[in-house]
Amino acid sequence: MNIKIIPGLLSTIRQLRKHENWTRSQLEASQADGLKQLRAHAYAHSLFYQKFHRGLMDRPLNELPILTKAMLMENFNELVTDSSIRLEKVREFVSGNADNQRYLDRYWVTATSGRERNPGFFLFNESEWIAMIASFGRGQEWSGAKVNILRRRKMATVASISPWHMSSQVAVTIKTPLTPSIRIAASLPLENIVQQLNVWQPDLLIGYASMARILAEEQLAGRLHIAPEKVFTSSEVLTDETRRRVKAVWGDEPFNQYGATETADIAAEYKLCRRMHIFEDLVLVEVVDQQYRPVPHGEYGAKLLVTTLFSRTQPLIRYEINDSVRLSAEPCSICGLPFVFIDGIQGRVEDALSMQSAKGGQILIQPLVFNRVMDILPVSGWQVIQETDSLLTVLLSGAVNGIRDDVLSDAIRKELALEGAVIPLIKVQHVTEIPKNASGKAPLIKSNIHQDRMIA
Ligand SMILES: [Zn+2]
Repeated sequence: MNIKIIPGLLSTIRQLRKHENWTRSQLEASQADGLKQLRAHAYAHSLFYQKFHRGLMDRPLNELPILTKAMLMENFNELVTDSSIRLEKVREFVSGNADNQRYLDRYWVTATSGRERNPGFFLFNESEWIAMIASFGRGQEWSGAKVNILRRRKMATVASISPWHMSSQVAVTIKTPLTPSIRIAASLPLENIVQQLNVWQPDLLIGYASMARILAEEQLAGRLHIAPEKVFTSSEVLTDETRRRVKAVWGDEPFNQYGATETADIAAEYKLCRRMHIFEDLVLVEVVDQQYRPVPHGEYGAKLLVTTLFSRTQPLIRYEINDSVRLSAEPCSICGLPFVFIDGIQGRVEDALSMQSAKGGQILIQPLVFNRVMDILPVSGWQVIQETDSLLTVLLSGAVNGIRDDVLSDAIRKELALEGAVIPLIKVQHVTEIPKNASGKAPLIKSNIHQDRMIA
């Protein structure tokens, strides 16, 4: 039973609250100590790290090699610090287990999307799992909704329902004692999702950014009748228009969160400043360019390197995540948290479109480029689909009269020209609903020519 992790969880949440009052130098001292312990553990118990960091064990973090997901999976059995863990057995366990069992009776398992050719598997022992759940709890608390065992809020999560997706594991764990929770598959027909939410009446609503926008539209149309105290979004870029729509129907903008299957939440929006502060007491984050060179605060990088300080079973040291973010150059002057904040997310590299450059070769067009044009349209939903190198389809749903397709394609052409792309043919199509993918997301940007992209 998971009830037994509750005391540890509550004490970890209390501990994390204290860290918010740290000074920057207290934080840095704790990071240095956490990193030292993590490395010592990895060097003592992981055959992989003994080889991977050979000759570098005394070097600073930024001189260590980068760990990709492919490397992590190729070296899985040597990387884990418990030699009784075998990848083949983990795979078997995952495919055969539906009852929220622990692998080897002691490990929680999550996996990245099954749509990938090689999904990643991540194992957590009890204290790691508590740290993961506590990081989600902190994300909730930063919105102003304190985790309180006597005032249990009803939670509804509309997301991927594959039991091995990180968010579903968390929902299962905190279900009974802390938060009564339902989980609705985002891939269900919309009427069905709306009906379940109407019955459940959640206090906390959690979903992909695109789903939050769709649900806000449903509320506006009079089909959905819920009054969530807080709305949380994650996994996709949250646009200004989605913020406005959620605020218009439920009184407050959504709180955006940023996380990964591998690391739990990395950052969450804080109530006082509405900025997304990084959980720097739990993870070390480095922003780097395509060649892994450090990018100064205030500039966009191409990737993030994440070191999870509490990881022990599967130590993550300079683990690569393909997101383009910009960290604040200055500390936050509003809230006083010691943690840096993310002041811009251009999007996941997997959401960016690779297009032909006018100068030859390929360039990456970030979702932001399309958001600038699309997000201000009077429509309930939109999607840009790269069909081929020379054709983009733009889907619009719920468009009010007055949108001129030719003006819209012109505006997109201009943005792409500014980016230096070879301009493809642009077709605008009006649809009744933006189609959702297998995990229930209705991504704003989608490519049909790069199917093998990783979906976190
Ligand atoms: Zn702040």
